[in-house]
Amino acid sequence: MPMLEQLRFDNTYARLPAGFGVALRPTPFPDAHLVSASPSALRLLDLEPSEAARPEFVQAFGGARPLPGMEPFAMVYAGHQFGVYVPRLGDGRALLLGEVLNSAGERWDVQLKGSGPTPYSRMGDGRAVLRSAIREYLCSEAMHGLGIPTTRALCVLGGGEPVYREEVETGAMLVRLSPSHVRFGTFEYFHYSEQHAHVKALADYVLGRHFPHLVDAPEKYARFYAEVVERTARLIAQWQAVGFAHGVMNTDNMSILGLTLDYGPFGFLDDFDPGFVCNHSDERGRYAFDQQPRIAMWNLACLGEALLTLLSEDEARAALGTFQPTFATHFLARLREKLGLRETREEDRNLIESLFARMAQAPVDYTRFFRALGRFDSSPEARNEALRDHFVDREGFDTWAADYRRRLAAEGSQDAERRARMDRVNPKYVLRNYLAQTAIERAQAGDFREVNRLRALLEDPFSEHPEHNASAEPPPTWGRHLVVSCSS
Ligand code: AMP
Ligand code: MG
Repeated sequence: MPMLEQLRFDNTYARLPAGFGVALRPTPFPDAHLVSASPSALRLLDLEPSEAARPEFVQAFGGARPLPGMEPFAMVYAGHQFGVYVPRLGDGRALLLGEVLNSAGERWDVQLKGSGPTPYSRMGDGRAVLRSAIREYLCSEAMHGLGIPTTRALCVLGGGEPVYREEVETGAMLVRLSPSHVRFGTFEYFHYSEQHAHVKALADYVLGRHFPHLVDAPEKYARFYAEVVERTARLIAQWQAVGFAHGVMNTDNMSILGLTLDYGPFGFLDDFDPGFVCNHSDERGRYAFDQQPRIAMWNLACLGEALLTLLSEDEARAALGTFQPTFATHFLARLREKLGLRETREEDRNLIESLFARMAQAPVDYTRFFRALGRFDSSPEARNEALRDHFVDREGFDTWAADYRRRLAAEGSQDAERRARMDRVNPKYVLRNYLAQTAIERAQAGDFREVNRLRALLEDPFSEHPEHNASAEPPPTWGRHLVVSCSS
């Protein structure tokens, strides 16, 4: 494994024609230090976990002493924020340090978030706070552990500098890894500012780097858009299946690769509440949990519009029209897995919908219920008391359980084998808000052990970890309605 000093950096994005952003030096913290680094993310850069403990690591990734080949660059973009078009956004507090080519031939964007002001900072200070850096760090690695496409988090760096939000907070930086940081809003920026040659240059860049199979294909831009629709539909199906609410699905937070991007006031469902709004600032519930598929499609329509110099309206409409069926197919497939069903039957949709209706009514803890459902005893005399106890209306559950038992019998399901399958898709551990909050409070007091413990646990959320059982508990009263907002 190479040392830090042997990393090879490039920055192809910074070499795009003028107008894609600005080259800029980061403003490091005077006394930066490591809060936590993700061993599995380090390995993506071919780095041994021990490299993160070196002072040179903090200096290099914290922007104080850039490594050879790094060309820090702030990307410009735009976006629809809460439905309103904002013509110019951009990396207001982040810099693309460069791209690392790893030994597997992958190219990883390395982005430093919280790196100081840029021309896109608007009224902001260009900084991030420890609270939000830890939330993004833990959730990126947790989503990866859940098998959901996401940007990754290399590390959180702390700095003594105070940062002013609603109150004084501890400043921090996050180093993010992604195959790409291009957003729907990057295309929107060039389209709406009528820089059509740049729309094409960006599309060609994205195709060359991420859709190489399309570079020489006929109707390549239409097919590219169709693939983004497909990837986004699949991603949202995964979010809905695991109970994840993003919180700020503005088009500038939508990845062109269908990755979960820009973790702000996200939340995992505790109790199953379809209308769950995790972002305190989202007063109208635009980004409520059950709105995510509709919003994703709305965002994709914005992207389609921004590509209209490269594809026809008919092509855009046809591709967008695949969103609903693709989402429905993937969502049903995920839910069948969660129920341990191998075969596809007409009645499955009803079985799922009636379960959700009963879960919402109770309400039932989403993650705990599905994990427990793996222990369903399908023998006719079994009462499944532990499962029944999740519900207030226990007879209602019995009715559903009778249907479920029949459905399992119809495909000759074996309890032990099914349980093993279900345990691989129904996580025991998710990053509940209260868990993140505890880790944050300890880190603010200088103790990073809880951050590290959670990161390691959430990397493997499907296994039983008896010593960490407490982290699978529903939130205590104080942790039920924690306020999370955009100000991060
Ligand atoms: P977000 O809500 O984090 O997706 O941010 C929306 C836009 O505001 C992005 O262009 C960010 O770069 C910018 N932004 C957010 N927070 C700050 C900050 N503290 N300083 C400068 N720009 C910021
Ligand atoms: Mg953003």
